[in-house]
Amino acid sequence: MDYRLPTTVVPMRYDLRLEPDLEAATFAGDETIALIVKEPVQAIVLNAAELQIQSVSIENAEGLHLQGSVALEPEMERAQLLFPAPIAAGEWRLRLRFTGVLNDRLHGFYRSTYKDAAGVSHTIAATQFESTDARRGFPCWDEPAFKAVFGVTLVVPEGLAAISNTAPIQASPVEPGRRAVTFADTIRMSTYLVAFVVGELEATEPMMVGSTPLRVWCVPGKKHLARFGQLAGVFSLEFFEGYYGLPYPGDKLDLIAIPDFAAGAMENLGAVTFRETALLVDEASASHAELQRVADVVAHEVAHMWFGDLVTMAWWNGIWLNEAFATFMELLAVDAWKPEWQRWVTFGVSRAAAMAVDGLGNTRPIEFEVRAPRDCEAMFDLLTYEKGASVLRMLEQHLGADVFRGGVRLYLDRHKYGNAETTDLWKALGDASRQPIPEIMDGWIFRPGYALVSVQPEGKGLKLSQRRFRYLDGDTTEAQRWRIPIALRASVKRGLVEKHVLLDGDELTVPLPAPADWVILNAGGHGFYRVRYEPPLLKRLTGALPRLAPIERFDVASDCLALAQAGTMGATEYLDLTARFVDETDRNVWAVLTGAFAYINRIIADDLRSGLEALVRHRVRLAAERMGWEPQPGEGELDRQLRGDLIRTMSTLGNDPATQTRARTLYARYREDESAVEPNVLPALIAIMATSGGEEEYAEFLQRFKSARTPQEEQRYLYALAGFRQPELIRQTLERTINGEVRSQDAPFLVRAMLGSVYSRAMAWEFVKEHYEAMARQYPGSAYRRMWEGITALVSREWAQDVRAFFASRHIVLGGRTVEQYLEQLEVAVRFQERERTALQAYLIQARRQFGK
Ligand SMILES: [Zn+2]
Repeated sequence: MDYRLPTTVVPMRYDLRLEPDLEAATFAGDETIALIVKEPVQAIVLNAAELQIQSVSIENAEGLHLQGSVALEPEMERAQLLFPAPIAAGEWRLRLRFTGVLNDRLHGFYRSTYKDAAGVSHTIAATQFESTDARRGFPCWDEPAFKAVFGVTLVVPEGLAAISNTAPIQASPVEPGRRAVTFADTIRMSTYLVAFVVGELEATEPMMVGSTPLRVWCVPGKKHLARFGQLAGVFSLEFFEGYYGLPYPGDKLDLIAIPDFAAGAMENLGAVTFRETALLVDEASASHAELQRVADVVAHEVAHMWFGDLVTMAWWNGIWLNEAFATFMELLAVDAWKPEWQRWVTFGVSRAAAMAVDGLGNTRPIEFEVRAPRDCEAMFDLLTYEKGASVLRMLEQHLGADVFRGGVRLYLDRHKYGNAETTDLWKALGDASRQPIPEIMDGWIFRPGYALVSVQPEGKGLKLSQRRFRYLDGDTTEAQRWRIPIALRASVKRGLVEKHVLLDGDELTVPLPAPADWVILNAGGHGFYRVRYEPPLLKRLTGALPRLAPIERFDVASDCLALAQAGTMGATEYLDLTARFVDETDRNVWAVLTGAFAYINRIIADDLRSGLEALVRHRVRLAAERMGWEPQPGEGELDRQLRGDLIRTMSTLGNDPATQTRARTLYARYREDESAVEPNVLPALIAIMATSGGEEEYAEFLQRFKSARTPQEEQRYLYALAGFRQPELIRQTLERTINGEVRSQDAPFLVRAMLGSVYSRAMAWEFVKEHYEAMARQYPGSAYRRMWEGITALVSREWAQDVRAFFASRHIVLGGRTVEQYLEQLEVAVRFQERERTALQAYLIQARRQFGK
């Protein structure tokens, strides 16, 4: 099927008047579209979905006026506009009147509701048009290359805020109790960036960045949570104006928190929408992770105002460039704003998550051909954002930051107000750097997967070789090779040697002045590849861990885990390796180790769990005792977060009674005096209370979720509900995922968490099998897709067969290769389980004897 619209008719300008009825959850629209008809047409084809079109007419400057009729094509989400005579080439004005429904699916023009402090329900109308849902708000040429100017008027009841992409220029009463708010013309932009928000919302005072006022909007009563997000916005806007060398393309910038929101945020030009947790936060009570989330998302969206909004991909295959670039810029900006957060080190966690998907046979290239809109939805994944940002960072480091920025400026200046392709960015970067960018980049962008670089001593130097990394056996004759800029650091007799080499064939010999005592590849950690050290080299390297940077230690732990999952390293060998990290001080490295323990926890039989718990206690105890329970003078924010993480790991995966008791005591004090607990420790306490909690704690947490004072508090108590282990409480939480008590933006993630826990996964799986159709109806598509990731934790041969049979017999379309990826990840885990069963059994029984009490 060809989903693309004909290009014979091109919109130049939309004058849109929309009147939402929040009570009835409907809206009425009237639009006039200035068109250029390039060659005579019998019919005009544009996108429309779930809209009723009441009237169509077209006229030109010569006074020709034709009434038309409409043939809707719901399958294609299009409307054919038919006229009694052909429409000649030239300029025309098309007028349409239409009505639609404010839906509950969090896309198109939709309805979000919230209860105020008195329990009274309120409604907000908001939009989410990316990727292809502007057509649910108004009939339009809903493809990114059809850029046009938008002149918007919203007719709203008095007392309600009305927000769109630009500043309001006029407001006039239309009838008693209603007013028409007209907004300034937008720049030429794509339909997916148009936004309307109507409701009882309040705004902060604007902060000025040059001539741009920047405000945060939220539901009444939450304005005191807006400051941090606003400061992040102000910093980002200034930072990007400097980086891009172009002024902000809008006339104001509103950051708007919407109570129901499917994604994290949406970069509508001048009217960025967010889910509340990504914008509103109480600095005093938030954890580091919660603050970082707000800074990240705000910076990401502001980066898009240029990269995405001012210059836009020509079609959805280019979405990766939008998202990868915004992610890369988000990290640059946050790193500049809060250097102490070490944002590029923390990014290692995200890079590793992308590598976990990209090591599958069912991965995909970053950029691929997109035909159906559904395929484009599936592009919003780890490969687009995290792998994309990783390879851009790799390129930036390779070219030098200034040269790279020069190329980006050239690209934006050349294509502003227009559309561009990946090759246009390569061209600009090539012009700025005088280097052959496509030759370096094409292997990373247009081909799937990444390399495993093996390293072994050869003479006095080293031999490097590459092949594709795969978790499951692939085609062994596969000849895919990458051009890999490799940074390495070796310890030789006289000191440290640093080298930068390019591995572009099968093998490369790197001479050294003397044999290396130890060597670290991917020095600095910017490369998107994994490293396998020959065993003696690995042994010596892990003996030198304190001499490595945190991101390098992170990569050693993460790459070895992947090798174990792929069967190249034994599971027990990996668990031995974790003993080398007992003095580890970096929270990201600990995140890998904890992730590894959790992975093994999912594959072992129940009777081995106490052995794993003993092992975890042994590995974590030193670090946990060093961190203690109270903040120490001079420590950084990352240390505070590590403290919370270690307490949680000790208590849950380690099942340590002393830590649990102390956590319960401390939580009891928190009930009396909230200042008694450091914000980074509190989330751990809540999680711990849940794992050992009964009905009383459950009722308390449910109440705290419902009456939460901040979006973060709400999330903590909500996800804590997934941590209760008693079957009756698990059942209750599952029920709440479909009975409307939990917002549909959150419920799918709650389901995913329950599928992922060894205590609730069996019940959760049965529940999902029974209710997946209701879930598909209730949940936003993107979140529903991610919910299914939970099946990767159903690790047993029987479950895996059941899961496969389920997907084979039900029609569950998640777009792209999402289902295949989840099934493959499950298969990787099941094979790991089958391969390692005997060895792990002996190892964990021994661990229980050695480390248990
Ligand atoms: Zn984005």
